[in-house]
Amino acid sequence: MDLIDVRGMRVPTSRDELFDTAGERPLAGGTWIYSVRQSGTTHLVDLTALGWPPITTTADGLAIAATCTVAELSLLTPAELRTDPVRAGNGSEHFADPRALFWQCANSFLASFKVWNIATVGGNIALALPAGPMTSLAASLDAVAVIWAADGSERRMPVAEFVTGVLTTDLRDGEIVREILVPASSLAASTGFRRIALNALGRTGTLVIARVDESGETVFTVTGGTSHPEQARFERMPTAAALEERLRAIDSWYTDAHGAADWREAMTVRFAEQLRVELGGAA
Ligand SMILES: Cc1cc2nc3c(=O)[nH]c(=O)nc-3n(C[C@H](O)[C@H](O)[C@H](O)COP(=O)(O)OP(=O)(O)OC[C@H]3O[C@@H](n4cnc5c(N)ncnc54)[C@H](O)[C@@H]3O)c2cc1C
Repeated sequence: MDLIDVRGMRVPTSRDELFDTAGERPLAGGTWIYSVRQSGTTHLVDLTALGWPPITTTADGLAIAATCTVAELSLLTPAELRTDPVRAGNGSEHFADPRALFWQCANSFLASFKVWNIATVGGNIALALPAGPMTSLAASLDAVAVIWAADGSERRMPVAEFVTGVLTTDLRDGEIVREILVPASSLAASTGFRRIALNALGRTGTLVIARVDESGETVFTVTGGTSHPEQARFERMPTAAALEERLRAIDSWYTDAHGAADWREAMTVRFAEQLRVELGGAA
């Protein structure tokens, strides 16, 4: 749509040119920005010419640029992933492959693959819709958002805390998300995924991802059914009762056109229990 309040656009190619005046707003893929009136926004700052490599592997894990598209992430090849071998308790080694989870999360968009080609990981997380599947992915892997401020400083915070509510984040005036860091330990973890929507291609009602690290730590992450990411974290695989108690204590279930709060809670509890058993918990 035409953004009638917007007077112009800048396309910076370096960090120095990134920050300017009030009224400016970052533009990534534009798949949401161009869908609603942006009152108060007079200029767009296109982040896509900054030349950030979409995905970088390091000894610490994976760095996903905010401008990495959903397509680039979901079509990652094993060669591009290049994780270090994971040593199991019995001494054997294998290579972690979190690509199934990346694919499951990409498929959790109401948007089709056509939108994936332009929508970005950073744009999805910064937009902070409850049904933001890149938020689901990053939060479930205990990923950290690297945030750049206009004064040249940088700060980091877990994505699970960065998204604070429906369309709200911890982002302060003038800040942008630079990248998302996924720790190697999460890439090497076993994961399980469940999602439901009110219709076959509908927007997420609730989405539960369970993760069991090599250390035995077990994390259940709920998005979509709650207004912001919720996590239940255990040192070891919990009992069914302990897991349900933690999930029932969540107080951010919400109701909208995509599902009622009590349905979302019930489906989350059911899915989490299925995942607990799937990942080795006693039935
Ligand atoms: C048919 C259709 C279906 C959709 N389905 C879903 C869905 O199921 N779930 C969902 O969550 N969304 C959905 N969307 C909305 C949107 O496409 C996605 O959220 C997408 O990931 C947004 O990314 P973008 O790069 O296009 O962001 P943009 O539209 O460019 O920006 C989104 C917001 O994030 C800000 N922003 C962008 N990048 C940064 C950054 N690096 N730092 C700080 N702020 C930034 C922008 O200023 C803006 O406020 C859908 C859209 C369409 C058209």
